Amino acid sequence: MDYSQFFNSALARLHDERRYRVFADLERIAGRFPHATWHSPKGQRNVVIWCSNDYLGMGQHPKVVGAMVETATRVGTGAGGTRNIAGTHHPLVQLEAELADLHGKQASLLFTSGYVSNQTGISTIAKLIPNCLILSDALNHNSMIEGVRQAGCERQIFRHNDVAHLEELLIAAGPDRPKLIACESLYSMDGDVAPLAEICDLAEKYGAMTYVDEVHAVGMYGPRGGGIAERDGVMHRIDVLEGTLAKAFGCLGGYIAGNAEIIDAVRSYAPGFIFTTALPPAICSAATAAIRHLKTSSWERERHQDRAARTKAILTAAGLPVMSSETHIVPLFVGDPEKCKRASDMLLEEHGIYIQPINYPTVAKGSERLRITPSPYHEDGLIDALADALLQVWERLGLPLQKKQQAAE
Ligand SMILES: *Cc1c(COP(=O)(O)O)cnc(C)c1O
Repeated sequence: MDYSQFFNSALARLHDERRYRVFADLERIAGRFPHATWHSPKGQRNVVIWCSNDYLGMGQHPKVVGAMVETATRVGTGAGGTRNIAGTHHPLVQLEAELADLHGKQASLLFTSGYVSNQTGISTIAKLIPNCLILSDALNHNSMIEGVRQAGCERQIFRHNDVAHLEELLIAAGPDRPKLIACESLYSMDGDVAPLAEICDLAEKYGAMTYVDEVHAVGMYGPRGGGIAERDGVMHRIDVLEGTLAKAFGCLGGYIAGNAEIIDAVRSYAPGFIFTTALPPAICSAATAAIRHLKTSSWERERHQDRAARTKAILTAAGLPVMSSETHIVPLFVGDPEKCKRASDMLLEEHGIYIQPINYPTVAKGSERLRITPSPYHEDGLIDALADALLQVWERLGLPLQKKQQAAE
């Protein structure tokens, strides 16, 4: 039997559909973010990263790097075990307390990643509720979809951010059926925000539990970086908040926060929590340093919003098809997987600008895009150079420009 043919034909399908992925080999330079070295097939090149999820550059912040180095030097590298068997170390316990405080909850629980926290968190919570019906937003992240699937209970999908549709489903389920609403607060491919207050109204009216993924909002929204729920004043009305330490906090790991009994039950029943080694102490200390810093410093948040607004304004004024976004995400519409990939390649090879193409299955076919994420450290000159490079690429690929608008400044 020729087993290799199975893998080769699977790869050929991806090439045919123009969704075979190539990873850029990057080396970031601490202190010079968003500048990095690209180890290209033709040698080393300096590039500017325009698509990082280290949204605030906290991955290079001296307090965060310092905490990581200091902790590793003091206590060593790995945790040395699962949480139950020697792996519950003090920096991790402190981090969980920090996260519970961030979200105004009784407790929090740390996982290997945000992916795992959704997958094992949602499935465990739903399994512990007899006859649970999960109501899931149509654009939920793959990690939530996997959590819902593994829960094994009935699920219904409501149209994206459509509270009228959600209400219909809640009414149809009846008052006696236990219901879990699962959604994100900020959807990172379009940059739109869920109507959390209205969702909480419905949850309270129809007796549903709420689970909200704040992965793209923690650190960046709310006076202390608690996320969209903090910004909108509804944190206390949401049962379970989920977040990551890998995006705005610049480290690694995921978590859920909620009432003590929910967190204790997930701690006690979730396979994806129980049967894996705890996060290393140095990572936990670094994450705690990032969270603490962002609880009191709003410079990063304000500068981040300012840079995102300027990027949108400059690209829009140049006639580039910036998709509407209420947040720091700047999606640029391409609508063709081949051209999206080629635009990205040309930006990197000819302009030293790195923006990964976003194609199916991350977004729907026909809505392929370049997803631009400005950070506090993208200076005016970098934004102007980005607009110039994009205009050249758009012209070479014959991509449509919009009617020139009045320049914003
Ligand atoms: C990135 C992401 C996750 C996963 O978080 P990681 O910490 O990177 O595993 C979960 N939910 C959403 C919406 C994400 O974009």
